[in-house]
Amino acid sequence: MPNTKIPYKTYLDESEMPQKWYNLRADMKNKPAPLLNPGTGEPMKAEELEGVFCKDLVEQELDNDTKYFDIPEEIKEFYKMYRPSPLVRAYFLEKKLGTPAKIYYKFEGNNTSGSHKLNSSIAQAYYAKKQGLKGVTTETGAGQWGTALSMACSYFDLDCKVYMVKVSYEQKPFRREVMRTYGASVTPSPSMNTEVGKKINAEHPGTTGSLGCAISEAVEDAVTHEGYRYVLGSVLNQVLLHQSVIGLETKAALDKIGEKADIIIGCAGGGSNLGGLIAPFMGEKLRGENDYQIIAVEPQSCPSFTRGRYAYDFCDTGAICPLAKMYTLGSDFIPAPNHAGGLRYHGMSSILSQLYDDGLMEARTAAQTDVFKAAEEFARVEGILPAPESSHAIKVAIDEALKCKETGEEKTIVFGLTGTGYFDMVAYEKFHDGEMEDYIPSDEELEKSLAKLPKVEEK
Ligand SMILES: *Cc1c(COP(=O)(O)O)cnc(C)c1O
Repeated sequence: MPNTKIPYKTYLDESEMPQKWYNLRADMKNKPAPLLNPGTGEPMKAEELEGVFCKDLVEQELDNDTKYFDIPEEIKEFYKMYRPSPLVRAYFLEKKLGTPAKIYYKFEGNNTSGSHKLNSSIAQAYYAKKQGLKGVTTETGAGQWGTALSMACSYFDLDCKVYMVKVSYEQKPFRREVMRTYGASVTPSPSMNTEVGKKINAEHPGTTGSLGCAISEAVEDAVTHEGYRYVLGSVLNQVLLHQSVIGLETKAALDKIGEKADIIIGCAGGGSNLGGLIAPFMGEKLRGENDYQIIAVEPQSCPSFTRGRYAYDFCDTGAICPLAKMYTLGSDFIPAPNHAGGLRYHGMSSILSQLYDDGLMEARTAAQTDVFKAAEEFARVEGILPAPESSHAIKVAIDEALKCKETGEEKTIVFGLTGTGYFDMVAYEKFHDGEMEDYIPSDEELEKSLAKLPKVEEK
């Protein structure tokens, strides 16, 4: 390791940990578009949302003005079990690339759920418990959210029902067993438990499922059972609020070592880790205090930002959720089953969609095999075996560091390393055996699902 003052890992002391979540919306001039009632086309009111979501979370969801929310004591205590997470200087990767750039990553994989999702699941379980609910329902794609939620629910002694996208249920039995270890019930989706599941099975026989289907099932299950609410692991404003803890810690750690980021990179599925990581930086950018280049990275096979449309769409396949304005591929879009890298959701956080539309951040796609190449390169020098999702960010961080090598610029690159990839070894195996393919949806394919966007008159 080069001899330098900056440590390999920077941790905050417990006393330096964030006491409040930061609500980026408060600093946005153009607020994210409101959720709409699909029946009336009017913005969803708190009373309407409270049938589906926990009360306090609805309040957070709709609040575009309060800049900071106190993190409740119980959640701060829980955070101490696995936070602060380290900000790591990737000295070994820098050396391998021969770049003058400084590369940092914020590592969120250091808990049993293996990803950043625990930051929000513990908050959502806390508010469900506070409301006196029996339990919560949710969907999970690759399984990280379900795992994080089952851990949080067992901590607060809540029932946890998880609808897991069928392809993952079958390909990732170990994730399923982790969830069951924490007491959750796990059902492959589409199932025959719900009306919407039966309908989707009838319309798409043999379907391997999608996040959009699983959301519809979980929502239906929640609203038809007394004492249950639905919780979601990404996309929603409340989730980005909770995930701001990532960015706040990152900013505090950079300040502690006297460093300023030039480029901030994160992978984008529904946008929660990226929205959380960039929050305080984007806040400075919006207030005109500092400038940053911010890059979202999405898979070539599910390109919401780069090939989607900014429009109102359904959040789920069954079209039972409110409408959200976002960059979307259409709620009917189902990514190719050979797509291994997570990040399968058809839409994107409304907050990030608005920021992207306003030109405040950029987006790039990465091909699946390039992502795994980057993952392996990173694992071999930095020691951590990254999640495929996180590796999208690694790929672009490496690209940017190599650009610096050409130009001689000493930029500071910060990226979010959202999780570990131990449950993704089947995908790694495919990559190693040369059986992994890159799938690029055709324009016709995207047109087909985009043609089904609901017609919404914006008021
Ligand atoms: C869920 C997940 C993501 C993507 O979700 P976002 O809401 O876009 O952050 C990224 N990385 C890991 C490890 C995940 O589990």
